Amino acid sequence: MAMQDSTGTASLTRTTTQLSPEVLDDALAPLAAALGDRLLTPSAAAFAETAVVFMGGPERTPAAVARVRDTAEVAAVLAVARETGLPLAVRSGGHSYVRHGLADGGLVLDLRLMDGVEIDAAAGVGHAQGGVLAGAYVTAAGEHGLATGFGDTGSVGIAGLALGGGIGYLSRLDGLTLDSLLGAEVVLADGTVVETNPDEHPDLYWALRGGGGNFGVVTRLDLRLRELPVVTGGMLAWAAEPGTLTTILTALAEAPAELSAMVNVMVAPPMPMIPAELHGKPLVMALVCFAGPASDAEASLARLRAPGAVHDSVGEIAYPEMFAGVGGPAGGATAAARTGFLGDGVWAPSEEWSAAAIEAVSGATHGLAVVNLRPMGGAIAGTGASATAFAHRDAAWMVTVQGLVPDPDAVPALREWVESAAGELGVGGRGYVNFMGDTTPQDVRDAYPEATLARLREVKRAYDPQNLFASNHNVAP
Ligand SMILES: Cc1cc2nc3c(=O)[nH]c(=O)nc-3n(C[C@H](O)[C@H](O)[C@H](O)COP(=O)(O)OP(=O)(O)OC[C@H]3O[C@@H](n4cnc5c(N)ncnc54)[C@H](O)[C@@H]3O)c2cc1C
Repeated sequence: MAMQDSTGTASLTRTTTQLSPEVLDDALAPLAAALGDRLLTPSAAAFAETAVVFMGGPERTPAAVARVRDTAEVAAVLAVARETGLPLAVRSGGHSYVRHGLADGGLVLDLRLMDGVEIDAAAGVGHAQGGVLAGAYVTAAGEHGLATGFGDTGSVGIAGLALGGGIGYLSRLDGLTLDSLLGAEVVLADGTVVETNPDEHPDLYWALRGGGGNFGVVTRLDLRLRELPVVTGGMLAWAAEPGTLTTILTALAEAPAELSAMVNVMVAPPMPMIPAELHGKPLVMALVCFAGPASDAEASLARLRAPGAVHDSVGEIAYPEMFAGVGGPAGGATAAARTGFLGDGVWAPSEEWSAAAIEAVSGATHGLAVVNLRPMGGAIAGTGASATAFAHRDAAWMVTVQGLVPDPDAVPALREWVESAAGELGVGGRGYVNFMGDTTPQDVRDAYPEATLARLREVKRAYDPQNLFASNHNVAP
C-alpha cells in the first residue's frame, strides 16, 4: 500500500501504526525480557537523555529506545518492528540533520553500545562496530600511527557518515569514507545476518556506499587504514573580502591531494582567537589539514597564508588532534540546509560568486548562518561515477548553505534565507545526503543521477521490499 509518512518522506509499502498503551506493552514484552533495562520507555529515568539526538527540532518522542549489544538483539528489534508495524529508526552517532535517529511513537534501534574498535595494523584494516563514533576510531587507529578518513567531527557516527559518503580531511587523498569501506556485516530487514564486500552480496555492497541506511543495519564496518602519524593542521581565518575568498578557494582547488580544508564563510562570532574588531563582521574560517610530509606542506600553506590570516594555528600535530574539541551537546539548535556540488574538475568560484557568498551571510538575520565549502577532486574523482551509489565524483566543490537556530519558531525564516542564498549561489540540484536539511522525494531525486536511483530501487526491492528502513533519505522500493 502506498502512503506518505508524517514527515512527507517517500511513499511507503509498509503501513506504520501507533499502538494503544496495553497493546504496546504486550508487543514490547519479548524485547523487555531480552534487553532488561536496555529497553527504555518514556517512564524510564534515563529515557529523556537517551531519546535525544544532536540536532533540535519539533517534539519527536519514541515509544521505546532499544540499546542493543549484538546482531541477535538487532534482529529481535527488527522482528518487533516488522510484526507490530511500529515506525523504526536506526541510530548510531545521532547527527542526522533531519533527526532520522528518532521515530515519533516508534522504536529506536540504538547502536551506541556496539562501540568496539579493533585495529589490525598488520593487515591495514580497522574493524568498527555499527555504533562507533569517528573520534573513538581515530584515537584507536592513531595509537598505531594509522588513520581512516572521516569528516571533521569526532562525535559523528562512522556508519551514518560512511553510508552517505564521508567528506573530510583525507577525502582528496583516499576518497570518501565509503571508498575505504572494504566490507561490512549487515542485519537485513528479515533478520538475516550477511557479510557484504566485492564478492559477497556485491549489489548490497554497491548500494551501501552512498545509499544511506536504506538496506539494513550495519553492525560492523571493515575500513582501509593508511599510515598517518602526524599532519600539518589547524585553523586559519581571514577577514572576508571577495578577492581573499577567491584566492583561498583557488589555492585549495589547485592544491595537491594531501591538502584539504573545510571552509566556512560566516559572520565572526565573538571567539577569543578572532580579533575583537572583526566580531560581527564577515569572516572566512578554515580547518586545514595537510596529510603529507611537513616540508611539502609549506608551499600549499603559503598560498593560503598570503592574503593575511588574522588567525593561524596550523602546525604539526598528531592526526587525532584534528578531531579534538569539535562537536557539541545533543538536542541543541535546529538546522536548515541546502547542499549542492559546484563545478567540474579543478574549478574555483569567481570573485562575483565570492562576493555573493559574503553578502548572503552578512544579510542573514536568524541564528548562525554559514556557507560551507569542501574541495573535492583528487581520489574522489579517481573512482567511476557508477562504482558506488555516491555518484557526484567529478564535482570541484561540495557546498552547503546552512543555518542553526536555537528557537524552532525561527526555522521558517531561516529556511527562507537558506533557499534564497542557495538560489543566489547556484547551490542545489545535486545534493549530498549527509548534509541534506529536508526529506522530500525531490531531495532524494537530487541526490542521485537517474540510473543510480533506479539501481538503488532495485536493490531496495531485493533487500527491503516492505521499506522497514524508512527513517532515512528514503529510496522507496
Ligand atoms: C556537527 C556535524 C558535523 C558533521 N561533519 C561531517 C563531515 O565532516 N563530513 C560529512 O560527510 N558529514 C558530516 N556530517 C553529516 C553526517 O555525516 C550525517 O549526518 C550522518 O548521517 C550522521 O551519522 P550518525 O551516525 O552520527 O547519525 P544518526 O542520526 O545516528 O544516523 C543517521 C542515519 O544513518 C543511518 N545509520 C546510522 N547508523 C547506521 C547503521 N549502523 N546501520 C544502518 N544505518 C545506519 C540511519 O538511516 C540513520 O537514521 C556532520 C553532521 C553534523 C551534525
